[in-house]
Amino acid sequence: MIPGRTPAIDCHELTYRYGDFTAVDNLTLSVESGETFGLLGPNGAGKSTFIKTLATLTPVQQGTLSILGFDARRSPTDIRYNIGYVPQQLSIEPALTGRQNVAWFARLYGVPRRVRDDRITIALDAMNLLDVADRPAGGYSGGMVRRLELAQALVNRPALLLLDEPTVGLDPIARESLWTQLRGMQANFGMTVLLTTHYMEEADALCDRVALLHHGRLQAVGTPAELKAGLGTPQATLEDVFRHYAGRDLSTEDTGEGFRGVRASRRVARRAG
Ligand code: ADP
Repeated sequence: MIPGRTPAIDCHELTYRYGDFTAVDNLTLSVESGETFGLLGPNGAGKSTFIKTLATLTPVQQGTLSILGFDARRSPTDIRYNIGYVPQQLSIEPALTGRQNVAWFARLYGVPRRVRDDRITIALDAMNLLDVADRPAGGYSGGMVRRLELAQALVNRPALLLLDEPTVGLDPIARESLWTQLRGMQANFGMTVLLTTHYMEEADALCDRVALLHHGRLQAVGTPAELKAGLGTPQATLEDVFRHYAGRDLSTEDTGEGFRGVRASRRVARRAG
């Protein structure tokens, strides 16, 4: 932790259980303001559960969690107004236009009426969607759907952006384009970004630090270079780091194009609790 600076995320001994099953196990982790932080781990590692807790959608059952200096138990509303969250499951309404989808989030996140229209236009522009903003989102390509979800999440100018597998199902060009837009937003507004991904090259290229989760437990945390060096094998990749801590290969779910493809390639929404 940097002395005198409030971390974007600070959690201590956080545990989350679904009944008897422990999904997040005694997690202690701090993410500095302005960092791009990657959460890695095989399916079932507890990443989505942790992100939902950060987004205050699941409660802090055990341990402590502070987001942007707000306690997650006492001040979930303050947290919600200051974060953006893009879940794995689709968060857009296909019958609405891109602009209407972003407007809906702007109201939901309490963007003041007098600046709302400007903010909506800025968010759409930042994600390169102004040209198609008045078309129904159901006709968008997979990459456009993801960028629209980012525009929704960015409309309240969040200090912390939470992205659960933001590039799953996208082709390499759409992925690159999404990261270019996101880096632009980060440079302009200095937000902290926490993301999960199964693409190790992506995590290596984009993240200042990464954490590896397995069975809900933190296995390793550090810069990609530190974690690779820690294996003691010259030329080790982040994929080798993943295999070392998770004990198995990566599984990716990279299929599909367009709205229908995105819907098919993302996991069915699971309600927490
Ligand atoms: P990841 O995002 O790393 O794939 P999740 O947080 O989705 O991991 O899941 C962690 C574990 O918790 C998995 O074993 C999953 O089956 C379990 N789990 C997730 N959601 C629920 C739920 N609503 N009820 C019971 N178990 C759940």
